[in-house]
Amino acid sequence: MKHIFSGNPMDRGEALRRDEAWIAKAADRFDACFLPFNRLNVLLRGRELAWLNTAELEPLEPTLPPVFLGMLGDSPHFAVNIDRTDELPDGCQLVDCRTAAMQMALDETGIVAQARAQLDWHRRHRFCSVCGEESHMQRGGQVRICPSCDANHFPRTDPVAIMLVVDGDRCLLGQPKGPLVKTGMYSALAGFIDQGESIEEAVRREVMEEAGLKVGDVRYHSSQPWPFPSSLMIGCHAQATSTDINMDTEEMHDVRWVDREEMTRAMNGEPASIKAPGPIAIAHHLIASWLSGDVDPRFGG
Ligand SMILES: [Zn+2]
Repeated sequence: MKHIFSGNPMDRGEALRRDEAWIAKAADRFDACFLPFNRLNVLLRGRELAWLNTAELEPLEPTLPPVFLGMLGDSPHFAVNIDRTDELPDGCQLVDCRTAAMQMALDETGIVAQARAQLDWHRRHRFCSVCGEESHMQRGGQVRICPSCDANHFPRTDPVAIMLVVDGDRCLLGQPKGPLVKTGMYSALAGFIDQGESIEEAVRREVMEEAGLKVGDVRYHSSQPWPFPSSLMIGCHAQATSTDINMDTEEMHDVRWVDREEMTRAMNGEPASIKAPGPIAIAHHLIASWLSGDVDPRFGG
């Protein structure tokens, strides 16, 4: 299953990017394409990514060096920060990446995920975490090297376990404290996977922490890159082995069981006691998969 922010068609140019001389020249090629971002908002032309050539990019005052995303066809493609936003090309506008992703073709959302996560990482990791010296990017942005202590720093991806806990004909949804409360939206429970922890262990720990429930069988469903700032959502179904909720009141506003009928109404946008997450979120697909009976019938057996 391909989620929004996956499906990136770019050949990431693993061999090409190890040739620093090639990378240095690639950005000057006549066929080089640049995708501008400002404050992590992406430039769109209509609903499509606005790839610019060097001449179009120049007046926008790009912050160099650009990040090499990879090859599409025979052309090198880059993501780049721009400083000027008052001289955008005709028909172009800067759009926040969530909004952009909900409008565009799936393949393009994968490029947005890669570009946004990489630009944000470089912006926040200019200095070596070992010795404090300013580092510089190599391999087109796939690594930062410290000139003082030779440490290599790689862009990180943070794994998040997100799980739909089920108990027969009902599933468990939660609402964390914060902006979601006003919207009435409920979603699957989720949390960062700790160091030295398997996906299954993280699922069981998070469900115990947030809902006070025990979980037995855990089944992987699918995963979704989530570039806010650089997570990988690992979607699972989990079988409850206890059912009395004992919620973490510090983190959660509400945790509740939702039966199949109520869940179906919420997913169809019909009046219901909760609002379901939209298709941009992997939680939506975990719920849809459970409602449609796609969950492995041996699950929990
Ligand atoms: Zn260092």
